[in-house]
Amino acid sequence: MLKMIDLPYPLNSLEPYYSKETLDLHYNILYKGYVDNTNQTQEKLKKARDTGDFSNIKCLEKNLSFFGSGAILHELFFLNMGIPIPTEPSIKLMQQIVKDFGNYEKFKNQFTEASKAVEASGWCLLVWVPKWSKLEILQCEKHQNLTLWGCKPLLVLDMWEHSYYLQYHTNRADYISAFWNIINWNEVNKRFT
Ligand code: MN
Repeated sequence: MLKMIDLPYPLNSLEPYYSKETLDLHYNILYKGYVDNTNQTQEKLKKARDTGDFSNIKCLEKNLSFFGSGAILHELFFLNMGIPIPTEPSIKLMQQIVKDFGNYEKFKNQFTEASKAVEASGWCLLVWVPKWSKLEILQCEKHQNLTLWGCKPLLVLDMWEHSYYLQYHTNRADYISAFWNIINWNEVNKRFT
């Protein structure tokens, strides 16, 4: 069961920058909805596994991404805000910002402009890309895109047509069942560890 994080500050403590009413609605209604719905979706997925009835799987996986990513991003958002007393990036983080963005002003400008340019509903994120050992700024439209933010892929199957069409044509099921014969679990184990 996913649990709501406790806010580490009172509802009115971000004022005047973020009003009590706004935070109350955002935390107690919207964020709570994401957490509750993630739990309900995980319950339904368990039921599907237990009964073998996966007729709703597409909808359930979408809901897992939508509500789960909503819960994760709101948790990060609420925790990366705090009462308005000045704090600053650590020496290490600042060095990385300077390395990857030029200086703090340039980072702040890119983050501001990227946030303004988010299409419709979405997020702006400063992220660490482990594969590149680099900071980047990303826009995220809506927030799910069928993933969970921060998850680590362990086992992946390419469902683009280029990966199977030459051999299996439209027969995706045969391609998928063949895949189970050629999984290298040693590599998956390594990623999991
Ligand atoms: Mn929100």
